[in-house]
Amino acid sequence: MSNITVCARFRPLSSKERRDHGDSVCIRCIDTETFVLKDEKEEDIMFSFDRVFCEKSDQAEVYEFLVLPIVRDAVNGINGTIITYGQTGAGKTYSIEGPGILECDEQKKGILPRVVDGIFEHIKPDKMAKYSIKLSMVEIYMEKIRDLFDLSKDNIQIKESKIQGILLSGATEAFFVARYARVSTHTHAYIRTHESTDASVVQDFHSLGKDNLMSIIDPAQALQSLSAGIANRAVGETQMNMASSRSHCIYIFTVQQELTGDKRMKTGKLVLVDLAGSEKVEKTGAEGRALEEAKMINKSLSALGNVINALTCGSGRANHIPYRDSKLTRILQDALGGNSRTALLCCCSPSVFNASESLSTLRFGARAKHI
Ligand code: ADP
Ligand code: MG
Repeated sequence: MSNITVCARFRPLSSKERRDHGDSVCIRCIDTETFVLKDEKEEDIMFSFDRVFCEKSDQAEVYEFLVLPIVRDAVNGINGTIITYGQTGAGKTYSIEGPGILECDEQKKGILPRVVDGIFEHIKPDKMAKYSIKLSMVEIYMEKIRDLFDLSKDNIQIKESKIQGILLSGATEAFFVARYARVSTHTHAYIRTHESTDASVVQDFHSLGKDNLMSIIDPAQALQSLSAGIANRAVGETQMNMASSRSHCIYIFTVQQELTGDKRMKTGKLVLVDLAGSEKVEKTGAEGRALEEAKMINKSLSALGNVINALTCGSGRANHIPYRDSKLTRILQDALGGNSRTALLCCCSPSVFNASESLSTLRFGARAKHI
């Protein structure tokens, strides 16, 4: 199986890179898929990915090529994962969040706000159905999972259920319900936690009544929740004296669709992952806790690589997929394997100064694709 799409993205040179190392870049795009990286020994190394986004590429291009197909699948019950990989400062967070999650500039909007829009757009009432969208946001730091909607939940456990798959036990979920009826749209949105039962949700939903035309379900509310989660991330970082680049940030959307007159539910999960920086420890000269952090990050990133490799090379063979080697891969278990789709965005600096880190990022991508 090869449901993985691998792309490379080179951000523009930063002003610091220009100042310190000049205008020369280490990459040259040949066409939309092929590019050449000049390594430290001035040797050209050619890569061929599903797509390469050069510095002039915009956020919409990335979204349409890499993410939109996964959004379409997720609303139809197929799981998917979008991962950004790369050294700190390479553009992972920019790709996901854009310059700011509530930023209005359409052009610069990141993957996350576009996913929110995309999901809500795809559940437009073209048929009689009830939809629900659940949204959780967690961070993995030193192999501990923290709820970014509620910082008091700082040690979330992963559970597995036959029906729902992988669950983050007790993690807060922003919950949106929408039912489309013949004459009007009845919608409702609120926050609930895992502890509350589905029954109460359904009841609340039905109590809205037939004449209720109020529509309070919208992407703006979802973005407000996400923005609060991102702000929480910064608060937690200060408390723990850690940089955001040292933790993995994970956004989980679960879209459920129940067609009227058909009791079968379709559930699709879409997971967005802003990985911790993949830079080598030696370069930063880390000691003590910073070194421990780096080891944990390396361990989970190599676990991710191993899982992806096991999935892409396992054509037909019932080979062992080592999901349990890290919290990261365990959370992604049901959104990486099976018939789910995976998108990997390898983010790189174009500066000659960062050539060796870019090379290692691109090699991770190439291995994932099995090229
Ligand atoms: P990372 O999350 O990989 O550590 P960031 O996304 O924070 O890196 O990016 C580092 C800096 O580069 C930020 O100031 C960001 O605004 C800028 N940047 C990254 N990608 C782009 C891009 N495609 N276009 C413009 N600026 C970018
Ligand atoms: Mg970042």
